[in-house]
Amino acid sequence: MRLPSGFAEVPCARCGSFTPGLAFGELCRDCLKVTTARANRVARLISLAVTALAAAYVSLRIPPTPTARMWAAICVVVVYLIVRRVAKKVALEHLRG
Ligand SMILES: [Zn+2]
Repeated sequence: MRLPSGFAEVPCARCGSFTPGLAFGELCRDCLKVTTARANRVARLISLAVTALAAAYVSLRIPPTPTARMWAAICVVVVYLIVRRVAKKVALEHLRG
């Protein structure tokens, strides 16, 4: 329901349903849930692909010592976590618009 005072309820940027407490350009809770799930899926795919490339590169470049292998594994995990975070942020921004 729309309040007579004007912009107390703002339509969702995607589906257009009026939701209280929403700012202009924001998504309603349902759309945000769908968008976040999609962004998570995209981020997982991207980060797995990048991690596979990083693992392949690292396994070709490092010397075959246990210490080097351990650090390489740590680096690959760190690459995965960072890429996933960044990819999720980028995907969210991209899907929101
Ligand atoms: Zn919506």
